[in-house]
Amino acid sequence: MDIISRIKQNESFREVKKYYALVEKINNLENEYEALSDDELKGKTIEFRNRLEKGETIHDLTVEAFATVREASKRVLGMRHFDVQLLGGIVLLHGNISEMATGEGKTLVASLPSYLVALEGKGVHVITVNDYLAQRDRDIVGQIHEFLGLKVGLNIPGLGTQEKQAAYNCDITYGVGTEFGFDYLRDNTVNELSQKVQRPYHYAIIDEIDSVLIDEAKTPLIIAGKDKPSGRLYKVCASVIKSLKEEEDYTYDLELKTVNFTEKGLNKCEKVFGIPNLFDLEHSSLFHSLLQALRARVLYKRDVDYIVEDGEIKLVDMNTGRIMEGRSLSNGLHQAIESKEGLVNTEENKTMALITVQNYYRMYPLLSGMTGTAKTEESELRETYGMNVVQIPSNKPNQRVDMSDRVFMTKEQKYDFLLKEVKERHQTGQPILIGTTSILQSEEVAKLLDREQLEYQLLNAKSVQQEAKLISLAGQKDRITIATNMAGRGTDIMLGEGVAELGGLHVIGTERNESRRIDNQLKGRSGRQGDPGSTQFIISVEDYLFIRYAADELERMKPKFKANEIGEITSSNVHKFVETAQKISEGIHYQFREYNLKLENVTNKQRDIVYQLRDKLLEEENAIQFVMKQTADLPKKLIQTFCEEDSLPEEWDLERLSEELNKISLVPFQLEEKEFQSDEELIDFVKDHFKQNLEELSQYEDNEEIQMNAKGVVLFVIDTLWKKHLDTMNQLKEGIGIRQYQQEDPVQLYEKEGYKLFETLFNDIEYEIATRLIILIHRANEKEDNSENS
Ligand code: ADP
Repeated sequence: MDIISRIKQNESFREVKKYYALVEKINNLENEYEALSDDELKGKTIEFRNRLEKGETIHDLTVEAFATVREASKRVLGMRHFDVQLLGGIVLLHGNISEMATGEGKTLVASLPSYLVALEGKGVHVITVNDYLAQRDRDIVGQIHEFLGLKVGLNIPGLGTQEKQAAYNCDITYGVGTEFGFDYLRDNTVNELSQKVQRPYHYAIIDEIDSVLIDEAKTPLIIAGKDKPSGRLYKVCASVIKSLKEEEDYTYDLELKTVNFTEKGLNKCEKVFGIPNLFDLEHSSLFHSLLQALRARVLYKRDVDYIVEDGEIKLVDMNTGRIMEGRSLSNGLHQAIESKEGLVNTEENKTMALITVQNYYRMYPLLSGMTGTAKTEESELRETYGMNVVQIPSNKPNQRVDMSDRVFMTKEQKYDFLLKEVKERHQTGQPILIGTTSILQSEEVAKLLDREQLEYQLLNAKSVQQEAKLISLAGQKDRITIATNMAGRGTDIMLGEGVAELGGLHVIGTERNESRRIDNQLKGRSGRQGDPGSTQFIISVEDYLFIRYAADELERMKPKFKANEIGEITSSNVHKFVETAQKISEGIHYQFREYNLKLENVTNKQRDIVYQLRDKLLEEENAIQFVMKQTADLPKKLIQTFCEEDSLPEEWDLERLSEELNKISLVPFQLEEKEFQSDEELIDFVKDHFKQNLEELSQYEDNEEIQMNAKGVVLFVIDTLWKKHLDTMNQLKEGIGIRQYQQEDPVQLYEKEGYKLFETLFNDIEYEIATRLIILIHRANEKEDNSENS
């Protein structure tokens, strides 16, 4: 059946139907474009640019530009975009998500809109899930763009400033999402505008967009400065926590993955440290360390969340099972885990700058993405990012058979059946991919296969390249591959010779995942581009998913389940139960992301304001001017502090006021000896006096050295106070988790308190830059006096 009839027949392709007319127009241009010489084809780029300049839009040019890219691809790579790939490209151009199965050629799809939007000259970012793929895509697809006269760059970690700038100044820049986010953060810590590497954001295409926006959204991008560890404290806390009992001393919310002390637990800790109240402000860092130690003990499991290697804690990426080299947890959590494992503490990461991946991408005026699995999360993607998920038909009809789950009473029975199943299929030579949910489970399965001396490839903790290589071979005859779910995502599994006849690749899932989306990712490894293939989940009701999300339900239903002699549950309602548990899990995760995003929005707005202030300073030639403007209201604020409104002049603390005013003024104030009759009189006097100060200050505007130092000092003040503020906000967040018990809306509370803290931050910044400028000038004058005297 051809594509257009498949589109017409299937309701889920409703949205692409309207784009099909464009595809036909592109097809109609094919003969004409085929007849063009290479130079004529390349000339299209200049023509399109001119037309854009004259007022046409990218949408006016879609048909011709896509026809150009397709023709160039035929000449350069020998690949002709399939009609469905054109459809996918149009969806991306409109800022939506193309849902296309694995192996449908998403990389080539991105070549279409990236070319067209790049013609506007404002940059296009093509985001891949790892450096390996970024490089690969740049090297292959980039050839099409280079042939058409565009510049294509690669943004990878470790490049110098100039190399980064060059990469960002290209028409199209490939790279991993996190690196783009880190560059954003770094750009906002530079001391000179010329050190910034990014241009304003324009358009991004995100490959595997669900991984990037949903799975990886939990861990924010953090630029950390190192801090000395707080010595023995973590060790002590770890041993105190060891003596606590679940339920009695602390509660553990399995669903939300949070822990909290009970009254009793708090009392125990207070006793150990001999203090009356852990909530007292002076003990906040002790409380923080205890809480981190509790988290380290309860929430972080060895060989699931991290491994211990060479005396170090190495974090495991839950999605890929891969070690995240060089990544560590912030705010003492890493040290808490080290102490729990009895290791020497490394230096602590103090957050200097932070942004979540979601908020980073929300800065792009036009955002789009591709993935095999997004439809189940469509409403979230629409609400948070304003993107629709559009299902694109596959190039060839899908032949994959998804068999219904086999559900067992116990884990042991599940594994027995799994082993039997693997053995039987393996005897025929059919390749098998076993997808697990953690490294630990991968190892369990590996041991199982060892029992029967079955040979397998275990994809744990491998480098990205090794992983890609092993995964790409998973479709060869006789192969058994064990991998955590997302390992090697983005790499195609091609079938070996004779494998199609054996039924193609068979995928076995050993546990249902926390969302249907991840299950679908695993299934998608099989049956690429119309290949035969099959999938099945072999699970048990003892699996984590059910214990965590449907414990009560399970207890109720378990006695009623009927099982056969091998322990397989034969009651048909077990499938409904599985589905329900997964839906609960999806709902909870969504709520959790939504909650975090709301909290994050608060700091996000604050970050915007601080970074804008920073930019204003960087753009300013005249740092003294900047300080004068920025602190214009400061005298008034000081007056309000020391001479409260509606108070009598004799109640005023003129001594303190004049002390403070002198810190921000070159011209000395002496208020104590003055007699003021009213507020107005005082205000007028200070205003007048301050005007003299400004005049005095402006005399230094031509002094280059002072200007340069002033700029440095102001930057330092903004950065240091912002860093401290992030810390405070983090503690506020922790506190709010606890106060939830008091029935207050945590988000509102966070907004309210966060706003107050932010006001304080701005006041502190004003005060600090004003006083430091004065000190700086005094010092410079002293130095001059000294050198004159000597
Ligand atoms: P996906 O990311 O969608 O899983 P890839 O972009 O990795 O798919 O492409 C899968 C394979 O199909 C690659 O080997 C690619 O070269 C090939 N391919 C993609 N599009 C075409 C095409 N139009 N013609 C021929 N081969 C193609």
